[in-house]
Amino acid sequence: MLSLSVEMKLGHMLKKIWRLIDYVPSKRKPFPIVVFLEIVMPILDKKFTLEINEDDDMESGMLHGNTIPSTNTIQLKNTVYDNAVDGNGMDRMTIGHEIGHYLLHFDVEPQFASIVSDYSIPAYKSAEWQAKAFAGELLIPYTEARNMSVKEIMETFQVTEDAAKYQREKAKNTC
Ligand SMILES: [Zn+2]
Repeated sequence: MLSLSVEMKLGHMLKKIWRLIDYVPSKRKPFPIVVFLEIVMPILDKKFTLEINEDDDMESGMLHGNTIPSTNTIQLKNTVYDNAVDGNGMDRMTIGHEIGHYLLHFDVEPQFASIVSDYSIPAYKSAEWQAKAFAGELLIPYTEARNMSVKEIMETFQVTEDAAKYQREKAKNTC
């Protein structure tokens, strides 16, 4: 299955990220996405810039997050940031999604290249699909998801119901 092989590549990439910050999936703790965004990203990429914008400034409040390759910037709505800090699933997924765009679709610095360069993702998958898959894989380790209920996944990893269902199905079909 073509889509599976792409997801397995993402899986390998994420194992490197998890190892980098000593995140152990089997401990079943939410991935520290805000810490990763604020502390780890600037260490890995000196040019990385995080912009927290007033809700009204993000294109009439419609955009939750945005990634701008030309300025190495991730922009987030103020409420998205605050809610992610509080552990809201939707907002944590939004941040994971933007980090996915950043890592998968940029010419990244060498420190990042060691994480992502071995795993070029075929162009037939859209950038949006890739960012979504990245967020799901990053926040919901499949080794755990396959033995948990959707509700347990949502509560344990602080993610959305949609993402929990999707990752659980995928995990069950992966041996
Ligand atoms: Zn996107």
